[in-house]
Amino acid sequence: PIILGIESSCDDTSAAIIQGRKILSNVVSTQKVHQNYGGVVPELASRAHLQNIVPVIDQAIQLANITKKDINAIAFTRGPGLLGSLLVGTSFAKSLAMALNVPLLEVNHMQGHIFAHFIEEDNLESPSFPFLCLTVSGGHTQIVKVNDYFSLEVLGETLDDAAGEAFDKIGKLMGLNYPAGAMIDQLAQLGDPEKYKFPIPKLEDLNFSFSGIKTSVMYFLQKNQNNPSFISENLNDLCASVQNTIIKALLVKVEKAVEITKIKNIAIAGGVSANSELRKKFKNLEITHNCKTYIPKLEYTSDNAAMIAVVGSLKYERHLFTNLNISASARYNL
Ligand code: ATP
Ligand code: FE
Repeated sequence: PIILGIESSCDDTSAAIIQGRKILSNVVSTQKVHQNYGGVVPELASRAHLQNIVPVIDQAIQLANITKKDINAIAFTRGPGLLGSLLVGTSFAKSLAMALNVPLLEVNHMQGHIFAHFIEEDNLESPSFPFLCLTVSGGHTQIVKVNDYFSLEVLGETLDDAAGEAFDKIGKLMGLNYPAGAMIDQLAQLGDPEKYKFPIPKLEDLNFSFSGIKTSVMYFLQKNQNNPSFISENLNDLCASVQNTIIKALLVKVEKAVEITKIKNIAIAGGVSANSELRKKFKNLEITHNCKTYIPKLEYTSDNAAMIAVVGSLKYERHLFTNLNISASARYNL
């Protein structure tokens, strides 16, 4: 079947066409309006989705070389995310499904991030079950045990900030634009990751906490504010040290989850899984912990509709359709 996927949970409007598990097109329009606010402004996000959704879907259809009549079903992100943003994609998906008279498939955004691993790619193998996935994004940090396509268990998650949120908020403290993750990654390449020490939270279980790291960076910067060029002079080292701390806090829990579950198939997903150092260190668990690691293609790390379409495809095969009275769900657990 050919399925149209629609993603609008946060600040990216995206549409993708999938055939089976092969992506025919994946168009992402990232909203720039939020850059100067240090975070996503919900009202501006839903307005931008309204403006973008038709052209983005049209482009996805065009690039896939199909017509609307070829679409067999429509998959959309039901949640979690910003309600106003989700409403745009949900309403559009429902109307289009009605107009084309095709079935509707609702998708959980966090399952989408994980299932980017099931997109058919020439040189990438999909994980075999069961596997553990560290999902690290702007709003979530989770370790999920994936038993089967539709049997997922959250083993641990963040008690406060998400990993991506930590990158973004600390970036803001250092004067970087939102979202700051990719910039910190880039600046860190020329920095010393051991130059500054920030504390790693000591939680016994598989849960995470990142607000302490953020606070300690904030105090550290305040302590040095008598030197107005402290940040600019040490930006590379600051970025490298912050990044190093966040990655350590993440990997310590992955190692623990591997020990507890004895599952050695491990994956990363979500926007922060684009981080070059995290990808390197995660891959290294193959050597240190005898794991098999799965690292997604860069274009499928941050929000995109391809990952929504692939979950849709798997649901279609199992006839897991949803009816037209479904509504968006801002807090939608896995
Ligand atoms: P959620 O999926 O939890 O609803 P989201 O969809 O907003 O949140 P994603 O789009 O998956 O999140 O990821 C965005 C996050 O990824 C941002 O916080 C961004 O800073 C971070 N990020 C992107 N690239 C990198 C990178 N190279 N290094 C670190 N963080 C990165
Ligand atoms: Fe996301």
